[in-house]
Amino acid sequence: MRTVIVTGASRGIGKAIARAFAINGYNTLINYNKSVDSALEFIEDLKKEGLSVEGFKADVSNKNEADAMINYCIDKFGSIDVLINNAGIAQTKLFIDLTETDWDNMIRVNLNSVFYCTQPVIKHMLKKKRGKIINISSIWGIVGASCEVHYSAVKAGIIGFTKALSKELGPSNIQVNCIAPGIIQTDMIKDLDEKEIEELKNATPLLRLGTADDIAECALFLASNKADFITGQVISPNGGFVI
Ligand code: NAP
Repeated sequence: MRTVIVTGASRGIGKAIARAFAINGYNTLINYNKSVDSALEFIEDLKKEGLSVEGFKADVSNKNEADAMINYCIDKFGSIDVLINNAGIAQTKLFIDLTETDWDNMIRVNLNSVFYCTQPVIKHMLKKKRGKIINISSIWGIVGASCEVHYSAVKAGIIGFTKALSKELGPSNIQVNCIAPGIIQTDMIKDLDEKEIEELKNATPLLRLGTADDIAECALFLASNKADFITGQVISPNGGFVI
């Protein structure tokens, strides 16, 4: 049985990814941080369905906590075959108003976490000469978003990280890819009003926003052996919003 770690899996895209992998027969380590109650309920529900899941509370922007999570996964499941770096935060603010704290938080949670989780996981994958890393970026990392300069910068950073690491790890048969979702219906976009949502739908050729399940399907494919010859790529499920 293959094992996956999904960071930030208490809500939204990470939760849908974790559910999809568990249903598809993976041992699934579900990472959560602040949403303790909903995460525990989610994990319990999956266990009741007979699925092989474990939860671990960790702030993945903290190196010690990320290390503890990875050690726990190895203890419980014996290996790590797939890592999905999904945990993230967003913030909408004029660049001129950004504080140093806003900037640091954005980098720490969205980018440092990817470094902290990937490095120890790779040590295990290198021994087996096999593994898949999937990083969740955003369309804004490709085209940039006004009033989200720090978010766009970290998401572009994740794309650079993915491309560089894929070159380094290719000879070790470890694929590193990036999913750059368009606008997806989760808590992350809860501050958009109805008019803004309508405008976004109308600007999308497929005339709808994405669902967390749309992203989960893409992650499942990239983790599967059907994607063994794909590495260093940015796949953007976005309904045609960015082409
Ligand atoms: P969401 O509904 O707000 O969920 C964010 C998740 O990240 C939560 O499970 C949260 O866990 C977790 N998280 C945040 N900080 C964390 C930390 N320090 N340690 C561990 N977990 C942490 O957002 P989402 O829409 O699902 O976003 C998931 C990913 O997709 C993010 O990387 C986001 O940038 C990216 N994305 C989203 C969209 C979109 O339109 N929704 C588009 C493109 C890309 P707790 O609540 O337990 O703390």
